[in-house]
Amino acid sequence: MRKGWKNYLYVLTTVFFAMGFINIAFAWLGFVCMITPFVLLARDKRKTWCQGYCPRASLFGVLLRSRSLTGKPAPAWLSKGKGKWFMLGYFIFNLFVIIISTIMVSSGIRPPSDRVGFANAIQLPWEIPQLLNLGPLPDWASHLSFMMYSMMFTTTVLGLIFGWLFKPRTWCTVCPVNTMSDLLLRNKKECSF
Ligand code: SF4
Repeated sequence: MRKGWKNYLYVLTTVFFAMGFINIAFAWLGFVCMITPFVLLARDKRKTWCQGYCPRASLFGVLLRSRSLTGKPAPAWLSKGKGKWFMLGYFIFNLFVIIISTIMVSSGIRPPSDRVGFANAIQLPWEIPQLLNLGPLPDWASHLSFMMYSMMFTTTVLGLIFGWLFKPRTWCTVCPVNTMSDLLLRNKKECSF
């Protein structure tokens, strides 16, 4: 990959969210975003994804580079204290909710989600348009799509808020991918983004 191309990785994040408006099934691409960092970590024994390929970090950099409210690094309670463990706990809880609720939908115990939500707590009051009909999706697949889209939406919004309040890539200090990568590498050094 040429270095100049990396300057436009943020486009992938934008395209991901836009594709949810074309058909929510494209939200399954979020799994690629979740798995690829660990595939590269296993191959390279370092955080290759975080150090040069993450589209979300690219978006934070482009959108917030000169718009930070304080321009300060995240406070220690967020980056070196309980913040990253809280976020890792939230991520694991969220995955648990996604898996269990998808099983419940496939078993007919509960109806599928048809709205994008924030932090498993607030549902957006409108349905996002579905511009392309890919045919009937099984209820569980549609539900999983909305849950994945909601998780990506939530973490991106949180990242934008953190980046606006502090430095653009503050999210990286609490990002579950970063925390899990550190654990896997047994690297005690804190993220230096
Ligand atoms: S820490 Fe998270 S947001 Fe930051 S570069 Fe890595 S995967 Fe992307």
